[in-house]
Amino acid sequence: MTGTRREFLQTAATGLVFVGCDLLAARHARAQARRREVMVNGKRVKTIDVHAHCAVPEALALMNLKLAGPGLRPDLDMATEAGGRLRAMDEQGIDVEALSINPNWYTLDRDLAKQVCAIQNEKLAAVCAANPDRFVAFATVALQHPDLAVEQLEEAVKKHGLRGAGIGGNVGGLEISDRKFDPFWAKAEAMGVPVFIHPQGDGAPAQLGSRLKGNGYLGNVIGNPLETTIALSHLIFEGTLDRHPGLKIIGAHGGGFLPSYSGRSDFGCPTRHDLCPGGTYGPIKKKPTDYLRQMYYDTMVFNPEGVHHLAAAVGPSQLLVGTDYPYPWTRTQVDLILGTPGFSDADRAAILGGNAAKLLGITS
Ligand SMILES: [Zn+2]
Repeated sequence: MTGTRREFLQTAATGLVFVGCDLLAARHARAQARRREVMVNGKRVKTIDVHAHCAVPEALALMNLKLAGPGLRPDLDMATEAGGRLRAMDEQGIDVEALSINPNWYTLDRDLAKQVCAIQNEKLAAVCAANPDRFVAFATVALQHPDLAVEQLEEAVKKHGLRGAGIGGNVGGLEISDRKFDPFWAKAEAMGVPVFIHPQGDGAPAQLGSRLKGNGYLGNVIGNPLETTIALSHLIFEGTLDRHPGLKIIGAHGGGFLPSYSGRSDFGCPTRHDLCPGGTYGPIKKKPTDYLRQMYYDTMVFNPEGVHHLAAAVGPSQLLVGTDYPYPWTRTQVDLILGTPGFSDADRAAILGGNAAKLLGITS
């Protein structure tokens, strides 16, 4: 039998004793299940993923929604799918996920929005309490009712131990820089907690729907980063970041297209002063690209050239790991940071987890 000859040769060459196929398979499975411990120059790094989705079925039920299909995937449910998620984290070398829920409650009235967010924040807190070394979470807030969002953020952080808030790139069609939301920004700034901004499907992807039809999943591939680009640009140009200089903003998907073409942001106002009344850059205090360096970004840009450029535009101290789990965009975000040339060991450790640990109050 050919197999016997191969096994004999392997045994002769390596001194290994022959083992049956089933046992080999079991060993392989165990090796896969082992938690990957990420090292930088021989030193263990606690890796933190700031872009990890989940959902709460009880909250969805209040909106007559349920987990099904490729959007509201069943594995968003932490109550039934936490085991699979932990296995994926172990395989990818992710020690901690900062969970968030994509807002789909921005059109709800006050009472229902209050109920939805209350259930979500309680469930998020329970998930984190069950695995405190593996999960932290961003609170959900009813931003369409800013005074309620202020209360929800305070309660979520102080009572439930959540680490900040996750919000959309627009709120029912309003830009997040709208002065209506100033109380929320003031609260997040005063509490010193980060705000994770994720694109909303009802924003740029839907508004450009007819242009993003056809092959390529362009509604997401182009629409989602564009939604973030617009949201972050408004925070800069409408003065939100001037009014709240202590805000800790985290932009999903590498901040969209903003850091990749940031130079242009500095030339709009000087080119058309009539569209930017005020000083050199309109009403804002600093050069637009200076504000880029005070926000944070996940590194979901898929290749080392992208990470390298992002770091050049905003600084390594502003970069964080993000996977978009459970959406299967990537399983190699840790390797992307380890494999991007030009970083010092300290940079790599910071991007893999140190920067996020400071933002989220995660101690080792
Ligand atoms: Zn996402």
